[in-house]
Amino acid sequence: MRIDSFGITDVGRRRASNEDDFLVEPDFGLYAVADGMGGHAAGEVASRLAIESLETFFRKNGRPSGDPLLAAQRLKEAVATANRSIWEAIAGHDERRGMGTTLAAVLQIGKQWVVGHVGDSRVYLLRDGRLARLTSDHSWVNEQVRLGFLTDEAAQRHPMRNIVTRALGSREDVVVDIALEPLREGDVLLLCSDGLNTMVPDETIRDILSRHSIDPGSACRALVDEANRRGGEDNITVIVAAASPNGNGRS
Ligand code: MG
Repeated sequence: MRIDSFGITDVGRRRASNEDDFLVEPDFGLYAVADGMGGHAAGEVASRLAIESLETFFRKNGRPSGDPLLAAQRLKEAVATANRSIWEAIAGHDERRGMGTTLAAVLQIGKQWVVGHVGDSRVYLLRDGRLARLTSDHSWVNEQVRLGFLTDEAAQRHPMRNIVTRALGSREDVVVDIALEPLREGDVLLLCSDGLNTMVPDETIRDILSRHSIDPGSACRALVDEANRRGGEDNITVIVAAASPNGNGRS
């Protein structure tokens, strides 16, 4: 099994700065997107800290081996460490109050995707032409959807769609949602910040990923172009990782 991956971040068409950040580390099978918040300087600091902390954690501890449950535990520890580094960066800095970041991260371990997330950055999986969400947003609108008060479509346009209910940096400890998904040949994984999915509906994301499924770079560019074409109201970050049968045995 061979994994081809690519990532892009784009400021979009309305914001002056880019508070998103991302990580593509094929050698570790590690992919992550962070969307900072708390005013633009603070947001940039928080997303950068989260990504750096995640990278440092896996460089120090190495890529987890075989056991998916152990890998999930490692990913939880890595995200907890990232949370702590942001929490500590806020302490004693009044201007950083409210600073935080989302984090969506995926570890590919053998034939397993290990997904961890906090906040409203998402992980999608395209398989057999169908697009599934592997994450459930920690956001006010998603809580309303789950309670039946809002439809998914209404949530996407709702004025409070940016309110996240869980983020790194807002508490000393963080609860990380973990999902395990078996990896299959032909899988196309997408990580994104909300600047993509609030602009582009899931059906269009699915169509673009299907059209570019063997070329993650062109898939990423097409997704960002589409979000900008529809207004580009927020920073847009996308990572695409595609699993193909050819290649010799790198897993
Ligand atoms: Mg955003």
